[in-house]
Amino acid sequence: MNIKNTDKQYIAHTYNRFDLLITRGKGALCYDENGREYIDMTSGIGVNAFGYSDDEVVKAITDQASTLTHTSNLYYTAPSAELAKILCERTGMKKVFFSNSGAESNECAIKAARKYAAAKKGGEYFHIVTMNRSFHGRTLTTLAATGQDSFHTQFLPLTEGFLYTEPEDIDGLRDLIGKYPTAAVMLECIQGEGGVNVLSKEYLQAVQALCDEKDILLIVDEVQTGNGRTGALYSYMHYDLHPDIVSTAKGLAGGLPMGATLLSEKVEDIFSYGDHGSTFGANPVCAAAALSVQKRLDGDFLNEVKKKGEYIRKELEKTGAKVSGLGLMLGVTTEKPVSDVIRECMDKGVLCLSAKDKLRLLPPLNIGYDELKKAVEIIKTVLCS
Ligand SMILES: *Cc1c(COP(=O)(O)O)cnc(C)c1O
Repeated sequence: MNIKNTDKQYIAHTYNRFDLLITRGKGALCYDENGREYIDMTSGIGVNAFGYSDDEVVKAITDQASTLTHTSNLYYTAPSAELAKILCERTGMKKVFFSNSGAESNECAIKAARKYAAAKKGGEYFHIVTMNRSFHGRTLTTLAATGQDSFHTQFLPLTEGFLYTEPEDIDGLRDLIGKYPTAAVMLECIQGEGGVNVLSKEYLQAVQALCDEKDILLIVDEVQTGNGRTGALYSYMHYDLHPDIVSTAKGLAGGLPMGATLLSEKVEDIFSYGDHGSTFGANPVCAAAALSVQKRLDGDFLNEVKKKGEYIRKELEKTGAKVSGLGLMLGVTTEKPVSDVIRECMDKGVLCLSAKDKLRLLPPLNIGYDELKKAVEIIKTVLCS
């Protein structure tokens, strides 16, 4: 069977794939059907926190799969309880709702915020303010939350009640919430899909203060930035924020689909039985994989993530490129079109991503310096050629 043709014939054309069929991977390396090796600076878009088929993740998955693969949320299971405990203990959050993706983790955050505001202030307090250039997911509600018109136009009408503000414009945000009864402000501290845009500490702290003052919930979307990606467990920790709700997914379970919405003390009891649910949520195999990932994200490991990020930044800046981002979530300006840079890197054996017009790098958090150096040298060559 010709896989590429079969894919084209039978899979909906939502992805404009590269001409590359990946058949296996180990760590930061993956291989195409001819056995050609690539250094992967994408981690499956920030998912494979410990690279492809990491031994510990594979063991956690296979042990759990041979014990209990799935039951329903009508019953207790051990891996999700243990995982929720770790997530709460490390963040100071109080409760977790498990789902299967970033979009779902944000849906849960939005539902929690709407219920909280309606109960506390009244049903008209349903507005959620998000940032221009944000990305929060592909469901109709998380598309509405996404502050990019280009994603909206063909799918109207979206869920109502979302308002957009320009990052760094705190007066604009204050005006907006003065005009519209607001439940929450929702943001990424570092906008991923929007171009690896780092929001300033001053602005983020001003947003936090404004939310505190008005009893408006702060939702931080850590779907991409969470789980050690930026060199902190969650990116909000770089900025001394105390969000009311944190959503995460991508790297959470090291390659398996899992989302989590973390609820602070203020909202921990907002959901009652039947308010929210997910058939696959808290799946024991995903939870076991996540446990194996979370247990390894300690201080020493996160410092290594920071150091590797600084290494990449320092090297790529030598080419005259500007590098944004934190830890191993980096955006790089390019002189030629980013699609050309990605194609040339791929031709030379390195896989990279884009974010708007920037080159985006999200290598596995445990990538070794040998592979990192090799990949960085190739990217430098391509940026300079
Ligand atoms: C990827 C991403 C999402 C959506 O996650 P899915 O798992 O694709 O639903 C939401 N928010 C941010 C910040 C993301 O990077």
